Amino acid sequence: MGFSTVAIHAGNEPDSATGAVSVPIYQTSTYAQEGLGKHKGFEYARTQNPTRLALEKNIAALEGAKFGFAFASGMSATDAILKLVKAGDHVICGDNTYGGTYRLFSKILSNYGIEFDFVDTSDVNNVEAAFKSNTKMVFVETPTNPIMTVTDLRVVSEIAHAHGARVVCDNTFMSPYLQKPMDFGVDIVVHSTTKYLNGHSDSIGGFAALNDEEDADWIRFVQNSIGAILSPFDSFLVLRGTKTLAVRMEKHDENGRAVANFLAEHPKVQKVYYPGLVSHQQHELAKRQQKGFGGMVAFDAGSLENAKRVLENVKICTLAESLGGVESLISHPATMTHASVPTEKRQSLGITDGLVRVSVGIEDIEDILGDLDQALG
Ligand code: PLP
Repeated sequence: MGFSTVAIHAGNEPDSATGAVSVPIYQTSTYAQEGLGKHKGFEYARTQNPTRLALEKNIAALEGAKFGFAFASGMSATDAILKLVKAGDHVICGDNTYGGTYRLFSKILSNYGIEFDFVDTSDVNNVEAAFKSNTKMVFVETPTNPIMTVTDLRVVSEIAHAHGARVVCDNTFMSPYLQKPMDFGVDIVVHSTTKYLNGHSDSIGGFAALNDEEDADWIRFVQNSIGAILSPFDSFLVLRGTKTLAVRMEKHDENGRAVANFLAEHPKVQKVYYPGLVSHQQHELAKRQQKGFGGMVAFDAGSLENAKRVLENVKICTLAESLGGVESLISHPATMTHASVPTEKRQSLGITDGLVRVSVGIEDIEDILGDLDQALG
C-alpha cells in the first residue's frame, strides 16, 4: 500500500459502536466493566484509550514499526525512550540536536548515573571513536536542528549494532514521508508530533516507534507508570493531521527548495543551511537517505542586528518558536530554541547570533519569497 493509503486507513477503522468514519474523541477517564476482570480491553484511560490507540497504530504503520506509543510531548517521548538505559550506561548523542534534548540529557538524566558524550555524528568516525564498553544507545537527529547536518543512518546503525547498542533517531524534521529511519537499521524512531505530523500548530505531542518486543513492553510500562500520555483530543488532532501528511510534505519540500535557492542568491545572506542545495556538504547523502529535503532552512544574516531586522520586519512569516505547521514560522535559534545550549557550544556548532531559521509553510511561494525579500531589504 502507498504512503497516503496507509496514512488515511491505518488505525482509522469505522467506530465499532456507531460506524463513525472519523475515530471519535473518547473523552473518558475510565470504562465500565461487565464483571470482575471482564472488560473490552480498556480499563483506565492512562493505560489505554481508543483514540490514542488509533493514532499509535497509525504512526507506527507510517514508520514501518510494529509498536507505537503516543506521549504528551516530544520531550516526554524521548525521556521514556531513555528509560531503556540505566545508571552506569553510556549514551552517544549528536552534538547538534534540539536544545531541549541536550538539556534533558545534560542537566537531568546525567544526574541519575547515565553518562553522555555529545559528538558530531555527521562524521561516523566520531561515533565509532566515542564507543565505550558501557555504551548502550546512540541518539541521532538528522537533519539536525538548526544547522541541517546529515548523519548516515545506515553506517551509524551498523557501528552501533556491532557494539550491541540501540540506535534512536529523532525524525521530527523529515517526518516518515520524507525519511524512514528503520529502512536503514534504526531501532527506535522518536517524533515531536507537535511539528509536521500534526502540522497545524495546535497540539503538543510526541511519539516513539519501535520493533523490538521487549523494548516495546518496557516503553508501554513506562508510559503507563509515568503517565505522560497524549490526550484523546490531541490524539484526534494528530490522527487528522497525518491523513494529509504526504500532500503537506510535498508542498513544504517544494517551497523549502525555492526559499533555499532564493536565499543562496541573496546578497544580504552570508550562508544558507539546506541539504537540498548542491553546495551542502552532505547533499549526496541526503539525496540517498531522504525522499526530499523538507521545509526547514537556516541562514546566516551576518550579525544579530541584521537577524533582528529580518525577524522584526517579516509580515507573512510569523516570529515564533516551533516548526512544521502550514504557516511559515521564523525564529532566532541562539535566543529561542537553542538558548539552553551554552554560548561557546552554540558558537562552535555554527549557531551564531546572525542565524535565522525558517520553517517554510505551504502558503503561495511568491508571497513567502516576497516577504523574505522585503524583510532582508
Ligand atoms: N525534537 C525536535 C527536532 C524538536 O524540534 C523538538 C521541539 O522543537 C522536540 C524534539 C521536542 O518536542 P516537543 O516540543 O513536542 O516536546
